[in-house]
Amino acid sequence: MKNKLARLIDKLEINRSLSKAELLELLSNRNDDVLAYLQERAEKVRQSIYGTDVYTRGLIEFTNHCKNDCFYCGIRRSNKNAERYRLSKEHILDCCKTGYGLGFRTFVLQGGEDPYYTDELICDIIKTIKTVYPDCAVTLSIGEKSRESYQAFYDAGADRYLLRHETASDEHYNKLHPSNMSLQTRKQCLFALKEIGYQVGCGFMVGSPYQTDESIVADLLFIQELNPHMVGIGPFIPHKDTPFAHERAGSLELTLYLLSIIRLMLPEVLLPSTTALGTISPKGRERGILAGANVVMPNLSPINVREKYTLYDNKICTGDEAAECRMCMQNRMEGIGYSLTVSRGDYKNIN
Ligand code: SAM
Repeated sequence: MKNKLARLIDKLEINRSLSKAELLELLSNRNDDVLAYLQERAEKVRQSIYGTDVYTRGLIEFTNHCKNDCFYCGIRRSNKNAERYRLSKEHILDCCKTGYGLGFRTFVLQGGEDPYYTDELICDIIKTIKTVYPDCAVTLSIGEKSRESYQAFYDAGADRYLLRHETASDEHYNKLHPSNMSLQTRKQCLFALKEIGYQVGCGFMVGSPYQTDESIVADLLFIQELNPHMVGIGPFIPHKDTPFAHERAGSLELTLYLLSIIRLMLPEVLLPSTTALGTISPKGRERGILAGANVVMPNLSPINVREKYTLYDNKICTGDEAAECRMCMQNRMEGIGYSLTVSRGDYKNIN
């Protein structure tokens, strides 16, 4: 590896930021040696804050109805082949019950943007979960809402909100979304969520169609600016019933590279090693943790709806019961010298 790149990585670790030109240089000169050095530094930083703990979140995919038509997503409105489902409040609570017994202390309610779930219903679900499981955190991942709705969910007890910005380049955003969606709205939502007091997560797909090193630099600069508590990144994977059916998937290497950069940029960040990473490579989630990630999100959704929440082709773990997923994850993490914790797994603010 050229000394110059090593110096850039050291600078990133010390300053927690790099300029646009420096980030571009780091990205455009990537190779196995640079990746190995980045991972070594990122793992050291992550270990200094979180040790070998890996936080778990129980993911409940409660609806695959969506009013949006994102070109990359398998549950987009126009996909007539998607078999739609919704979970009732009781079904969601059943998932929490199973999850609590398995040691989950964070429940992530994720879904398409589905107007069936009114603010009142979402608030009622949050309040009930928080009453029955006061020692648990609730994370929402239900898309773009008004500031008032976000405030109402927060007041009802929601702790965290995941809303990937998808890409921080306007031009790229418009190639991934129809014209009724905009990056500006997405960013406004993220800043509103942060102001309200949520632990906030942004993020993007790695290797999405039309992504360039320049657009990734824009993503990293946006992450520097937002300074979120969580960042969700995973490879783009095509879905057969979308306009991007024949596009190439994102790579394991670039995803690992970016996980390490993000860990150095935001040392305390909650960084998932995603299911998409496990889908493109059998040891993808282990590799993600070793690159600096510290969160995994096994699936708690009922087995009869798993296959219906198909954002991309060949998604893993669609046939396993929640307990199997949890055990599988525990074994995977122990296999690389890490352990799953039974805790809410909050953001550690050490500064
Ligand atoms: N509707 C909510 C939202 O928009 O934030 C949450 C659900 S949405 C399906 C969750 C995430 O899935 C998106 O932010 C996107 O990054 C990811 N996703 C969708 N399609 C994907 C694909 N084909 N490959 C990889 N990730 C995908």
